[in-house]
Amino acid sequence: MNYVMHFCRNSRLSERNKNYCNNGWIDKDLTNAQVNAPDWKYCKSCSEKLNIDFDSQTPDSNLTEKELIHKNRLRERIKKANQIRLQKIKSASTAKG
Ligand SMILES: [Zn+2]
Repeated sequence: MNYVMHFCRNSRLSERNKNYCNNGWIDKDLTNAQVNAPDWKYCKSCSEKLNIDFDSQTPDSNLTEKELIHKNRLRERIKKANQIRLQKIKSASTAKG
């Protein structure tokens, strides 16, 4: 298991927002983050304020409905692209005989 620096999901808010929070902590890397620090989790104190179980958060659990639809669309697109790529590889290898 890799570990990665997380930032509170409320760090996405504007700094002027009263809920803005820039807490960071080291956490298990569940999404294989390579470039950006993940910010899908609320920090412990924000979780308490929002009545969220800090440990039961998943990359999808805090998304708004709109964000979830967007993410699912993106996933579908990636899935289709992968299928097309696989088909191309398959047909290329059968063509070679
Ligand atoms: Zn926070």
